Amino acid sequence: MSLSFEPFKIKSIESIPITTKEERLNYIKEANYNPFSLKSDYITIDLLTDSGTTAMSSKQWAAIMDGDESYAGSRNWFEFESIVKEITGFKHIIPTHQGRAAERILFGVLGGPNKIIPNNTHFDTTRGNLEYSKAVAVDLPVKESLDTSLIADFKGNMDLTALEKLILEKGAENIPMAMITITNNSGGGQPVSMENIRNTKKLLAKYNIPLYLDCCRFAENAYFIKKREKGYENKSIKEIAQEMFSYADGATMSSKKDGLSNTGGFIGINDDKIAEDLKTLLIVTEGFITYGGLARRDLAALAQGFREVLDENYLEYRIGQVKYLGDLLTNAGVPILKPTGGHGVYLDAKLFAPHIKPENFPGQSIACEIFVEGGIRSCEIGSVMFGSYDGNGVFEPAKLELVRLAIPRRVYTKSHIEFIAETIIKVYQNRNNLRPMKITWQAPFLRHFTAKFDYL
Ligand SMILES: *Cc1c(COP(=O)(O)O)cnc(C)c1O
Repeated sequence: MSLSFEPFKIKSIESIPITTKEERLNYIKEANYNPFSLKSDYITIDLLTDSGTTAMSSKQWAAIMDGDESYAGSRNWFEFESIVKEITGFKHIIPTHQGRAAERILFGVLGGPNKIIPNNTHFDTTRGNLEYSKAVAVDLPVKESLDTSLIADFKGNMDLTALEKLILEKGAENIPMAMITITNNSGGGQPVSMENIRNTKKLLAKYNIPLYLDCCRFAENAYFIKKREKGYENKSIKEIAQEMFSYADGATMSSKKDGLSNTGGFIGINDDKIAEDLKTLLIVTEGFITYGGLARRDLAALAQGFREVLDENYLEYRIGQVKYLGDLLTNAGVPILKPTGGHGVYLDAKLFAPHIKPENFPGQSIACEIFVEGGIRSCEIGSVMFGSYDGNGVFEPAKLELVRLAIPRRVYTKSHIEFIAETIIKVYQNRNNLRPMKITWQAPFLRHFTAKFDYL
């Protein structure tokens, strides 16, 4: 059966704020035109992120109530470790409170000055943690990933020619590890093929460089492999995930994504010596090895979440819902990054508002207008996040100007999706009224979170 509806029924509901356009004009002005500064009480539909915004199942809530809060050796830890080992096959599982804590601990051991770490595309916290350790983060996505209108199956793939060139130029001894992010979040949630993971491992093995997966969306990636890659049509999501992990020496995960929970993360690793160093750092900065900064009941919810995320009906609904929004927008002529990926729809702001120059932040202007029009919060991923001025005061724009509509898991229904599409189509029809913007205040690092804006 092909699913055109949510494969669940609703047992508990949360009311959402309904506001007037006049109120929203005031709220966004008070927030200095930065959706990050809006109170969630003002937001009707929140598409800021899919991270930690999942709706948990009744079985997860039951597991929370049944949590065993023992400091050491809680049964919830053993449930969590068992399912994560079953999926990933890693010898050591090290729990953390979220993904970036896993990154900080891993790079605390493998990063450091003069180290170079390639990835298809580093997520911003991954890059941040690497650079904080004084290592160099290098992005090597395939070229197709930069063409938003090109339809291809695996635009998240690593560029293997570029990877080998980097190894030969910089020397394998300076590359303690390489990463692949599945799906490629910063590149539009695009999947990575099994073939690409396998060949990356093969190439790295030639130079004795270990491969790590940034596996936040491993189940969504596995679903794309099942649907798009030859030979995987009849495999289960778990079998596909197991094969993906079999090529890796380790992994970092933010369980706020495919853990179907509101918090959590882990490191998986096979190397005994590195695992020992990681556990020492874990105890110093996160917590004991059987909870890693989490309440034990969170581990219980995660153990159940990892079982539920392997359900193909869930994944069909999940990926289908994102595609449904993408199709509604495409049919109305709204330019989006194609094809839709795993966790959201990305508007192409350059095509949406071509009259606004990148240095006047077309994505930010669109995000503000989407809020004013329908109370929907989205997130600019363009020159606000990645643009900068060089030493001579020349503006260097981001490679892409995008607005991300991230879809929280199991939270919104088909009619919410239709309302989102109607709102954005209205903004698109009135796109000539979108106004250029400027930054009036910014922090020295990761400015997009707190910057203040105004219209020119
Ligand atoms: C969310 C995310 C992280 C960081 O995880 P947090 O739980 O937010 O700390 C790392 N990598 C990718 C690809 C992510 O999507």
